[in-house]
Amino acid sequence: MECRPGCAACCKIFGRPERPRICGAFQPDPLICGQSRAEAVKIMAELEDIDSGKFL
Ligand code: SF4
Repeated sequence: MECRPGCAACCKIFGRPERPRICGAFQPDPLICGQSRAEAVKIMAELEDIDSGKFL
């Protein structure tokens, strides 16, 4: 898929030192980007919660 124009849901940390290197290789994918910017933000927040160990 192509990035949605103006989405930027995953770009909040571009250029910041805490941005994980793996993010540079990220390609738009419906599983992460969802069908809208709002859905992308929701999916990424859920992934952040999982990554933080909140559910362990
Ligand atoms: S969330 Fe997906 S569509 Fe939105 S800017 Fe990032 S890669 Fe592009």
